[in-house]
Amino acid sequence: MTYDVLIVGGAAMGSATAYYLRLMDPAVSVAVLERDSTYARSSTILSDGNVRIQFNLEENIRISQFALEVLATFADDMELSSYRPEVGKRHQGNLFLTDATHRADAVAGMELQQSLGCDVGWLDASEIAARWPMFDGPRHVGGTFGSLDGSVDPIAVVRGYRQCAVAMGVEFIEAEVSSLIRDDAAIAGIRLASGEEMKAPVVVNCAGAWSPGLLSAIGVDVPVLPIMRSVFVVASHLEWEGDLPSVFVPSGVYVLPEKDGTFLIAWSQPDDPVGFDFTVRRSGFYDMIWPELVDHFPAFDQLEIVESWAGLYAANTLDGNTILGRWPEVRGLHICTGFSGHGFQQCHAVGRCLAELILQRHHALDLSRLGTQRIIEGEPLYEHARRLI
Ligand SMILES: Cc1cc2nc3c(=O)[nH]c(=O)nc-3n(C[C@H](O)[C@H](O)[C@H](O)COP(=O)(O)OP(=O)(O)OC[C@H]3O[C@@H](n4cnc5c(N)ncnc54)[C@H](O)[C@@H]3O)c2cc1C
Repeated sequence: MTYDVLIVGGAAMGSATAYYLRLMDPAVSVAVLERDSTYARSSTILSDGNVRIQFNLEENIRISQFALEVLATFADDMELSSYRPEVGKRHQGNLFLTDATHRADAVAGMELQQSLGCDVGWLDASEIAARWPMFDGPRHVGGTFGSLDGSVDPIAVVRGYRQCAVAMGVEFIEAEVSSLIRDDAAIAGIRLASGEEMKAPVVVNCAGAWSPGLLSAIGVDVPVLPIMRSVFVVASHLEWEGDLPSVFVPSGVYVLPEKDGTFLIAWSQPDDPVGFDFTVRRSGFYDMIWPELVDHFPAFDQLEIVESWAGLYAANTLDGNTILGRWPEVRGLHICTGFSGHGFQQCHAVGRCLAELILQRHHALDLSRLGTQRIIEGEPLYEHARRLI
């Protein structure tokens, strides 16, 4: 079988890319190879589904602006008779707290976001305490609040893109890709675990944390590791009225209020396991995360874990940002990985960008600095103060 484009992996990135390809060119033949249509271990489905405008790199801010635009009408735009993808967008807002040491950085980031038209503002610690008493605490001097940031259902996003792509003629094939086929300086297709080969002059690797393995087998090395990140859902004795923001403290602990009154809490650690490990260690919550949380917010002194899971970051160890685009040494090979902790919200802009690149269309958003060249040259493009996010 020969196609114009083969996409490996059909979660957020693969589905969005397939959708935008057919939207821009209904004649292009596209097949998506996804080994598990339940997406049980895909990072997309295991993610927190947070979408935020509060980044420090102009590209990442513009990517999120596009995401908010798409998500505002996603259910209407992607509805088919079989399914209406209600993404459940909740604009509860993200509050990034800062201590005195990091205040200037936080204000600089906010000013960049504001200059790009984002609705982000500064709240003093006293204003935070008055508005959300449970987020009163001794360690922050204030924070930046993005009122449009919020949470989205990742399943609805993937299903929405996937069903529309299929309706437009994309083939979704449930199969495991065992290898990419490289013919010297060009990509030639893929080989399935069944042994079957599929040919295409363009292959897009959207296999998430599994992407680097497929790439290194054909001599393409990217600085991306699969790193396990755990998420804990907790119940508390706290009571409140109205919406609570999602709160991020400078050390990286974050608290996302869920619709049912629970909180989703997580904290990435430098020693999180590398590899394809999905085993949550609850002791990590009790030993590390909870003490840090209570140190910031004493009101969280009584909690009970009601659920936990782990997913993988495709962690870009060079600079924490996406690696997006053509790999110059292998004609037709397109890379889409390294999203670390913020890829779900980027699938809209990334899918559109890849489609534009493959079909040689005008780029609605210039994401060339997130391309592969910086990886080849080893030149990082940091999102924030050299911190990997
Ligand atoms: C705990 C956690 C919380 C997160 N929270 C957020 C958040 O709040 N906001 C945000 O924006 N991002 C978040 N992220 C990051 C985000 O989930 C990812 O960056 C994004 O979902 C990556 O999408 P993807 O399509 O590239 O990869 P994935 O979703 O992992 O999809 C890859 C797909 O490829 C398939 N696949 C892999 N190998 C093969 C193969 N050989 N053959 C066939 N199919 C294959 C897999 O089955 C999978 O479905 C979080 C991640 C984690 C782990």
